[in-house]
Amino acid sequence: MLDVEEQWIALTRKVVGFYFVSHEYELLTPFISKQISWIGTLEDEICHNKDDILYFFNKEYGLYKDQYKLSNEQYHAVKINNQTGIVWATLNINAPDLPNVLVRLSVVWGKEDGEWKIFHVHNSIPDHIQGEYYFNIENAKVAYQVMDERVKLAATTDSVTHIKNRNGFCNAVSKLMHEHRKQNYALIKFKVQNFRYINQRYGYSNGDRLLENIAKNVKRSCNQEETCGRIEKDTFAILYQFEDRESLNQRLYQLNDDLIDKRMKRKMFSEVHLLIGVYLIPQNSKESIPAMLDKALIALNQINETQREKNILYYQEEMMKQQYHNNFILEQALIAFEKDEFKLFIQPQFDIESGKTVAGEALTRWITKSGEMIMPNEFIPLFEQHGFICEFDFHMLEKLCQTLRHWMDAGMDIQPISINQSRLHISEPDYLERFCHIVDMYSIPHCYITFELTESAFVEENERMLTLASQLHQMGFQLAIDDFGTGYASLSLLSVVSADILKIDKSLLDGSEVNQRSYVILEKVIEMAHDMGMIVVTEGIETRKQLDFLRELHCDIGQGYLVSRPIAADEFKRHWLSPVLS
Ligand code: C2E
Ligand code: CA
Ligand code: CA
Repeated sequence: MLDVEEQWIALTRKVVGFYFVSHEYELLTPFISKQISWIGTLEDEICHNKDDILYFFNKEYGLYKDQYKLSNEQYHAVKINNQTGIVWATLNINAPDLPNVLVRLSVVWGKEDGEWKIFHVHNSIPDHIQGEYYFNIENAKVAYQVMDERVKLAATTDSVTHIKNRNGFCNAVSKLMHEHRKQNYALIKFKVQNFRYINQRYGYSNGDRLLENIAKNVKRSCNQEETCGRIEKDTFAILYQFEDRESLNQRLYQLNDDLIDKRMKRKMFSEVHLLIGVYLIPQNSKESIPAMLDKALIALNQINETQREKNILYYQEEMMKQQYHNNFILEQALIAFEKDEFKLFIQPQFDIESGKTVAGEALTRWITKSGEMIMPNEFIPLFEQHGFICEFDFHMLEKLCQTLRHWMDAGMDIQPISINQSRLHISEPDYLERFCHIVDMYSIPHCYITFELTESAFVEENERMLTLASQLHQMGFQLAIDDFGTGYASLSLLSVVSADILKIDKSLLDGSEVNQRSYVILEKVIEMAHDMGMIVVTEGIETRKQLDFLRELHCDIGQGYLVSRPIAADEFKRHWLSPVLS
């Protein structure tokens, strides 16, 4: 094991080789810190950051074609501390087009993200330039101090947005709260909900630009006794003072509106959605800053997918209990997954005219060892939150395909079954390939699998959905828009997305019985879907009256407790062999 001085010397030798001998500037760049300053022998060789250096290397690249030879190499390392050291190198360069030149280099090495990086280079040809500057240890220490300040700044500053990072934010919060003890403070955590999609859709550099823009505006919204920071990828935190909830709300709405510059907004095709969690810090609180950040996060995480029009939630103590409960369920669910406790249930879908079962929807049930049945609403949102949903949905798809294969092998005529796919999938790059691969593994004709995606996915990720819809159709799958009428989509959606099936949500059906406007909407939706060539399925039919009513409106297919609840796949098999409505 080399000691640290030897490591720096070995690294410097390597760097000198790339730089002077082989001119492999690309190999050099991984050693260069984001904070680098570089002083070369000429005025235009003074660089203040990594981009300048890369530009400079690029220029050099065209200049030096020959491999130079080095002689009389001498290296001397001085340790400033465990994180920083300087290597002085003296060497002679022999090149066909240059006389023998003596070069002196000072290279300052420092730790960045756990790796040794060059923070400063001073490169001099002593005869031409007042190059002795860094060859004096006192001066080197001054240079180090400047660098040390920068390193410290880097430790508390986010390199993308140049506002505080998590560390910097926590330090600033604790200082401000200490200095202004009488003030009411709120800790706010917010997240750009569709950031992953934005990154993939517009590229990472545009994603970074969006974050910078947000950071600039958040910072602008803070006064001198407030602070903000970027805590992780797409999550920011703010410490605001406040008088009362109402004025704080006003400020947060304003922040929501002003967060992205108009120019930037125009460039983005998809809306940027924010989820905001707020923790009102009690006076004289003894909690740690990370604990407060956690509380704001708990509130943020509880903003439900389904109530997205409300994007601000305040932390309450019960949320902590809910969080414990959720963690417990999640842990149990992951064990249950291993034990194969998630079962395939299917709910029949029937032709409203004939009453015959013509299709089904796959719905998952978690049956515990003790026989208790846990409904999807208890675990699906948790799986979505923790990113496990993708694996889970593939697993359930495989179960469905296994079952269909079984039935086909037994000589049954199968019918199309629809399967719910979380909207989180659609940003996965190889998603459809995997989906298709599973279906093909069991040789299920694609026309028997209907892909169900909820309305909100179509609204928020419109462009991506258009691509997905056409890919699905090319592969021969059917596409259904689920939960239509839950408040997001407009009728115009139907003309944009070429889905095959429109599934009308129970709430629209229930509303139509009591409210004339809802009735008209339902009627028009069915009419328009038909005009677009879609099949209409209405969910949640519980009464005869509803059924008759839908028959009048020429709805094609029904699904609901009136005919059957979701039932175990085996039971479903028996079910569809005989008509269920008479
Ligand atoms: P969904 O896709 O809207 O499924 C329809 C829900 O309505 C089902 O709830 C079904 O049991 C219920 N339902 C059907 N008929 C009636 C009725 O007449 N009255 C009432 N009140 N409800 C009725 P379930 O099975 O609890 O599933 C809830 C949601 O969980 C589903 O809503 C679906 O979004 C999701 N889900 C279920 N299984 C999966 C899965 O494997 N993957 C994913 N990603 N989501 C799933
Ligand atoms: Ca569904
Ligand atoms: Ca539904």
